[in-house]
Amino acid sequence: MKLTVLGSGSTNSSRATIGFVLELPNQSIAIDLGFSCFKNMQKTGIDYSKINNIFFTHVEHPDHINDLTAFLFARKGLADSGLSEKIQINLFAGQGLKKFVQNLFVLYPLFENLPFKLNVTELEAHSKNKFPNFSLTTKKMKHRPSSLGFRFEAGGKSIVFSGDTEQNENLVELAKNADLLVAECNFGEEVGGDHMNAEQVAVIAARANAKALLLHHFSPEAEKVDTKAIAAKKFNGVIYVAEDLMQVTV
Ligand SMILES: [Zn+2]
Ligand SMILES: [Zn+2]
Repeated sequence: MKLTVLGSGSTNSSRATIGFVLELPNQSIAIDLGFSCFKNMQKTGIDYSKINNIFFTHVEHPDHINDLTAFLFARKGLADSGLSEKIQINLFAGQGLKKFVQNLFVLYPLFENLPFKLNVTELEAHSKNKFPNFSLTTKKMKHRPSSLGFRFEAGGKSIVFSGDTEQNENLVELAKNADLLVAECNFGEEVGGDHMNAEQVAVIAARANAKALLLHHFSPEAEKVDTKAIAAKKFNGVIYVAEDLMQVTV
């Protein structure tokens, strides 16, 4: 599996906000599409007309879902001009995604007659889902009502996304023996609230026995501290510090 970081920062940082593309053996999927992620997807050369499955870790915060609008607008343009197959696009998230999409259609009536089928699925908080080329396990995270953590498995490899969350036992379980834990690290030295800092993330990665950890979602406060050095005190595995457009192969 190859992971491309589309965005790695919080809204008030100079980075794009949160988004990833995961290239699986036979298809590519996206996980979150925050501010500027769609532009960055095109900078990487990833063919967005081939991405037909998008998973959102939560729907309440635009730093994770804002660029769905850009993605749908671009795909509509391609399909209208006959430049892409009129294939179904599938959106997945926790409870609240259907209402979000309905509201988006009210905001942008041109989306009501999309030239492709838009399939919206609300995932259960603790579920196992089989797809043709991969499996997905979800667990509830502690952030907003729709927040889910994702564990994708394909070809004997596993990659886990925390989404935004504070420390919680579900994330330890979800990341058990994972090849890569992609974890949010919004905080610098502060603790509390509904995010984590580098030390908290590293403790979870160590307890889960994850092989590698990728830190992302950096606020200006998190960028002021050496997140890699802080995490390395608690976690012995490989540590990546995300940058926009960075790629990691698992
Ligand atoms: Zn959030
Ligand atoms: Zn966020």
